[in-house]
Amino acid sequence: MIACRTVRVKNLLTPSKLPGVDYVINPYVGCPHKCLYCYAEFMKRFSDHTEDWGDFTDVKIPDTPIPLRRLTGKRLVISSVTDPYNAFEKRHGITRSVLEQLAGVPVAITLITKSDLIVRDMELIAGLENAEVAFSLNSLDDGFRRLFEPRAPDAKRRLAAMRRLHDAGIRTILFMSPIFPGITDFTDIIRASSDFTDEYWFENLNLDNLAHNRVARAIGRHYPGLVPLYRAIYRDGDNTFWKELAHDIADYCTQHGIAFRDLFH
Ligand code: SF4
Repeated sequence: MIACRTVRVKNLLTPSKLPGVDYVINPYVGCPHKCLYCYAEFMKRFSDHTEDWGDFTDVKIPDTPIPLRRLTGKRLVISSVTDPYNAFEKRHGITRSVLEQLAGVPVAITLITKSDLIVRDMELIAGLENAEVAFSLNSLDDGFRRLFEPRAPDAKRRLAAMRRLHDAGIRTILFMSPIFPGITDFTDIIRASSDFTDEYWFENLNLDNLAHNRVARAIGRHYPGLVPLYRAIYRDGDNTFWKELAHDIADYCTQHGIAFRDLFH
C-alpha cells in the first residue's frame, strides 16, 4: 500500500545544481517505483513521512503557474528525484499540465522516466520546441527488475514505449543507469534498443548513499558469486572494474558509430 496525498507548493520550478542543468521540475515527492538503489531517498529528510522511501508519494499542487520567462534558453530536467510518469500521474496529471504550460517555450527539456505511461503524452512532447526523453534501464532480466525495481515497468514495456516515441519523431536516450557490476550487460541492452535510440548515457552504481545496505544485502542473497566484486568496489574502493568498463563502452560505441555520454563518477 502506497500512501498518497496532495500537498500545496508555491511553484514547481527549482534551480538545479546538476551539471549543465538550469532547472528541475519534480511534480511528486517520493517515488512508488521503490528502486532498491534509489539515489533520491535523501528527499525524505525534507518531508514528515514516517513510511519507508517508496511507500509514500506526495502529489504537488502548485499555487502559481511555472514562471516561463525564466526558462528561455535554459535547460530543464523533468525529473531528478521522482519518476514524472509514476503510477499517480495517471490520475493526477501534474506532469501533463507542466508540459501543456511549456508548449511554445524556447527551453531544452529532458524528461527522465522508467514508465511507458509517457506514451500518453507523446503528441504533446513531440510538439514541444526542444524536448528529449531518457529511459533509464540497466537490465533486460525481469528477475533482476523484480528485485531491484519492484514497481517499475519491465524492460519490454520501457523499450516498446521508447520505440513509439522515437517513431513519433522524439529524440530518445537510453540512460543505462545505474550500471550494476556483473549484472548489467551493456551490449545486450544496446542490441535490444539501437533501432530506436538516438544516444546512450552510461552511469555507474554509486553506493555512497542510504541504499548501500539494502543493495549489499540483496546482492549477497541473490547474487552471492558477485560479493567479492562488490566488496572490492564498494568496501575497498578498487576502481579497476569501472575503468575497464568505461574503456570497453567507449571502444564498443566508437566501433559501432553509437553516440554516447560517459556519466561515470
Ligand atoms: S524511478 Fe528513480 S526516483 Fe523512482 S525509485 Fe527508482 S531510482 Fe528512485
